[in-house]
Amino acid sequence: MSAAMELEGHVALVTGSARGIGEATAGLLAARGARVVVADRRADEGEAVARRLDRARPGSAIFVTLDVGQDASWAAAIASAEAAFGPLSILVNNAGIIRVARIRETDIDTFRKVIDVNLIGTFLGLKHGSGSMRKGGRGAIVNFSSVQGIEGREGFAAYSASKFGVRGLSKTAAIEFGPDNIRVNTVFPGPTVTKMIERPGWQKEDYDRMYGKYPLGRMAGPDEIAEVVAFLVSDRASFCTAGEFAADGGVTAGKPRD
Ligand code: NAD
Repeated sequence: MSAAMELEGHVALVTGSARGIGEATAGLLAARGARVVVADRRADEGEAVARRLDRARPGSAIFVTLDVGQDASWAAAIASAEAAFGPLSILVNNAGIIRVARIRETDIDTFRKVIDVNLIGTFLGLKHGSGSMRKGGRGAIVNFSSVQGIEGREGFAAYSASKFGVRGLSKTAAIEFGPDNIRVNTVFPGPTVTKMIERPGWQKEDYDRMYGKYPLGRMAGPDEIAEVVAFLVSDRASFCTAGEFAADGGVTAGKPRD
């Protein structure tokens, strides 16, 4: 089967899809035929993304407000998704935040906030999303780790701890949900041009220079990460579960060139 429209009949919820990699992923899943629930805490931007997707294929997208760290918010978002489209068959736990500070300069509230969104948000997504998928009898979940879920980096303690945690959650979820015909995989994006890593005044070439010594010598565009997610949720990845898929331009391969 070709990739075109291969997700017809699927209902996908993508967290953090008001912008960045999530927005690109929601767009790609919709383009491949899925009905998409754009879920984010940014209502204005999220509504605009859902409207754009829905214009391209009427009846294919809605927006729901979701704070991934809040249990009640998940319950409401899933109820709205099911009311519009029926049970989920695809969930992308993409929403994430970053705070950069060395450990001794990180206060506990900042550390907790990052864990709340990136790790607890993924846990709640797995819990609520799999509940919905069981009603439909199938599911594919993609969780978002990072190259910082593979290696540490100065100033990245909270983020790295959350992204290492996502790996453990994913493996456990794959074991628990397999018998329900629900696959769970993890992507490990490398540096990708989005607002998350934005530095005032920088252009793409400035970012690429930072990664010039790594194998591909540049940053990714959000669409390049979305492609990996779209593959993992499709039947082309039907035997993939508990898998770890890097899309990092080789950043974690080893030492950069001198
Ligand atoms: P981004 O900041 O551009 O977008 C993140 C989205 O998540 C935003 O729309 C934001 O509103 C939403 N969000 C944040 N907190 C939320 C919450 N509590 N509830 C619901 N939505 C929330 O970031 P991005 O670069 O697109 O990152 C997407 C994912 O990819 C994240 O998990 C991030 O950690 C991961 N990642 C990004 C990079 C990169 O270089 N950009 C690298 C590795 C991993």
